[in-house]
Amino acid sequence: MIRGWEEFLQKDVGICQPSMVLIKVRTGGREHLPLRIGGCGHRSKMLGRNACKTSAFSFLVQQMWGPLCSCPVRPERWCSQQPCAQRTSNNTLHPLWTGPVSVPGGTRQSPINIRWRDSVYDPRLKPLKVSYDAAPCLYVWNSGYLFQVECDDTTEASGISGGPLENRYRLKQFHFHWGAANEWGSEHAVDDRAYPAELHLVHWNSVKYQNYKEAVMGENGLAVIGVFLKLGAHHQTLQRLVDILPEIKHKGARAAMGPFDPSSLLPTCRDYWTYPGSLTTPPLTESVTWIIQKEPVEVAPGQLSAFRTLLFSALGEEEKVMVNNYRPLQPLMNRQVRASFQAINEGTRSWRH
Ligand SMILES: [Zn+2]
Repeated sequence: MIRGWEEFLQKDVGICQPSMVLIKVRTGGREHLPLRIGGCGHRSKMLGRNACKTSAFSFLVQQMWGPLCSCPVRPERWCSQQPCAQRTSNNTLHPLWTGPVSVPGGTRQSPINIRWRDSVYDPRLKPLKVSYDAAPCLYVWNSGYLFQVECDDTTEASGISGGPLENRYRLKQFHFHWGAANEWGSEHAVDDRAYPAELHLVHWNSVKYQNYKEAVMGENGLAVIGVFLKLGAHHQTLQRLVDILPEIKHKGARAAMGPFDPSSLLPTCRDYWTYPGSLTTPPLTESVTWIIQKEPVEVAPGQLSAFRTLLFSALGEEEKVMVNNYRPLQPLMNRQVRASFQAINEGTRSWRH
């Protein structure tokens, strides 16, 4: 049986809140409709009885959200829009992020929809200094949720500073999120529009913290650069990664890679938006300064299709195509998105102290 999100919630997360939980579903990359997840009382025969399992993820969820009860949950109402209903019924969404993903008490969760006109130009934002070395990229692997390139972060060889950052941050890893179709796939959206994919370069504050693990939990611990991918010209450097993907088709597989300079994946124009946010995967800690590049990079349709040849599943398991590995949008709440640039046509407001 292909594991659906309901089963995931029940078996791995074990979530059943007595109150209603709002979730958001990205439909066709354009709209984000709230769905209401019902409380206890709807038991599906398909789901079995053992609801709370002590998987690593449920442990994390319990850490974040407190004790979980054992009732299965079921959406009270399905999204009525065709693309959403289609995607849900086809079970194409990865179970991890199609359930209730709000964090009680969370005030700065990610990703968000960046409203261009609501972003505020801040002239104090300096250009981001990016200094990456090609050597520290160690290997690429299939995490079972996405593919990721791990970097050697034992030295200051690769890192970023400047921009909105007060300290230097070391590059730890980079990875991508993408959709089942080209109409959606990015985690962040701009004016309600999603891109087909998004690159995240994850850095940790090496001035305040000893290592990545400490920084994840700490204030100003992480800085993540987000780069949107859009369809267009063939991306020569990305092809280096694409060529390796057949070797890491299954969950847990890893492959060595030679020197790789991640700065080649950044756009030419370095204008960015920045806002205080969180990790978009467990433990969802609110330790991230997000730096979202305004300009997307172009990749060929075939290169993006290659991402979709990867699998969520391990060797020997029923094959499940790795797509839609993004977290739904989170509320902006009391946050401001600052821009390093002055919009010409869109008219961002001037920064006021
Ligand atoms: Zn990410």
